[in-house]
Amino acid sequence: MIDRLCIIGVGLIGGSLARALKTTGACKEVVGYGRNAASLKKALQLGVIDRFETKLYPAVKGSDIVVICVPVGAMKDVFCQLAPLLTQDMIVTDVGSSKRSVVEAAQTAFGYLPANFVPGHPIAGTEQSGVEASFAELYHGRRVILTPVAETDHKAVEAVQSMWQKAGAVVTKMQVDHHDEVLAATSHLPHLLAFTLVESLARMDEKAEIFEYAAGGFRDFTRIASSDPVMWHDICLANAKELLNMLNRFSADLEKLRKAIKEGDSQYIMSVFQTAKQARDRFCGN
Ligand code: NAP
Repeated sequence: MIDRLCIIGVGLIGGSLARALKTTGACKEVVGYGRNAASLKKALQLGVIDRFETKLYPAVKGSDIVVICVPVGAMKDVFCQLAPLLTQDMIVTDVGSSKRSVVEAAQTAFGYLPANFVPGHPIAGTEQSGVEASFAELYHGRRVILTPVAETDHKAVEAVQSMWQKAGAVVTKMQVDHHDEVLAATSHLPHLLAFTLVESLARMDEKAEIFEYAAGGFRDFTRIASSDPVMWHDICLANAKELLNMLNRFSADLEKLRKAIKEGDSQYIMSVFQTAKQARDRFCGN
């Protein structure tokens, strides 16, 4: 049982965690903190949090766990504000989609990596954002990756793991850099492709007609282009190294396909599509 949980940034991810822990009775009190009193009032009205504070000290005071749920570009500022308030019995974790940048931000802000800071990332979300979009079942059966570093206290890791398990998630652990490499491939690159495709089509003269005839395939492929631009801007820059590696690799493969289409190389085209279909059917089920 968590006596008091503080959520910094009560949006989709933080709000869904609060809802999940309140629904299962795993947390006695959820305190919200953020830069925007109107969003926090909304969270209170929706019953997502029990109270909110617009000053950080009363928000984190007496909290067992503080969960930082702001965009990754805003993490360093939050760590800097938190640094003078951190106590030994306060566990701090985050939900940022890139982990090297968050660990570096913590190191800079605190001047060291606190043993009670546990970097984390729930592999769950939707293209919606804000507390109104939050729901208690978001983490059911979904993975949460924790990326503890050498300095991290194992008791803090266990507490954060238990919190996510109570929210319905399956927790795994990974090295920081491995996390960023894997997520660049499976999440960051697909988002970048969806944003780029929709933006490219939106600039075409025939855009009205194109979008009018967009059917299931277009909607499936581009759903994630409705995600929050600020959040994805931050992720692209925060995980630039791994994202550029994936982008270079993907661009080379796309160029090979472009050449095959130009040269009418049906064997190459078929082999790409067949391999892709088999891989997706195997991993995602069909
Ligand atoms: P969200 O719904 O937009 O919520 C973000 C929250 O952070 C809001 O409460 C927002 O407050 C606050 N915030 C935004 N910018 C801020 C700033 N500069 N300083 C302080 N607070 C700020 O976003 P989300 O989807 O929950 O994402 C939050 C985090 O989860 C991000 O780090 C993201 O990388 C990670 N994540 C997202 C997903 C996903 O699919 N959405 C999945 C896994 C992890 P306001 O009301 O003032 O805007």
